[in-house]
Amino acid sequence: MMDLHTHTIYSDGIGMVRDNVAWAEKRGLKIVGISDHIHYFTPSKFSAYINEIRIAKEESDIVVLAGIEANILENGPDITDEFRKRLDYVIASVHEWFGRDGAHMYIEYVKRAIMDDNVDIIGHFGNSFPWIGYPTEEEIREVLELAEAYGKAFEISSRYKVPDLEFIKECIRRGIKLSLATDAHRPEDVGKISWSLKMFEKAGGSKEDLVFSEYL
Ligand SMILES: [Zn+2]
Ligand SMILES: [Zn+2]
Repeated sequence: MMDLHTHTIYSDGIGMVRDNVAWAEKRGLKIVGISDHIHYFTPSKFSAYINEIRIAKEESDIVVLAGIEANILENGPDITDEFRKRLDYVIASVHEWFGRDGAHMYIEYVKRAIMDDNVDIIGHFGNSFPWIGYPTEEEIREVLELAEAYGKAFEISSRYKVPDLEFIKECIRRGIKLSLATDAHRPEDVGKISWSLKMFEKAGGSKEDLVFSEYL
């Protein structure tokens, strides 16, 4: 299996890249992705990050991927072409706090990320809905249609327990890819994807519905 959303000391995690990889190996994953928060990086720190992941890739028996977690801001996700071309994949997540009745804004932000060429996966979609309110069915449908049209994936987040089962089923029905993700900030949490896997299986997903399924 896979865990495509993990953090290290390059952002707000507490482990090294190799610690995350070691736990992924221990838990029997086939793929682990490192995806630190983009706003922690200067260009030189980013180079060190890419280099450290490359070394981990070479040393490990499992597939180690270089990712990043970008923020979806008012004008779109903060991922640049320069960063994107050195990465295997990019997660884009809404981290802004919209307050009550903010679901409409949240949806608009996610749509901007889906339409961005540098984005591959939408992170923890809907994790703030319990506080900002839920989008309408129409808005959810628009997001799904756009993701289908642009070939973008959604992660199933064990940390936030999103998206819901209906949404995951609809992704599978439309051929929208999914990823399994812990959002681990401690190495020992890497690979604890049981909630994601359970939801994926309940929704009737099979290997081909996952991103990077060629490595599974
Ligand atoms: Zn996040
Ligand atoms: Zn994260």
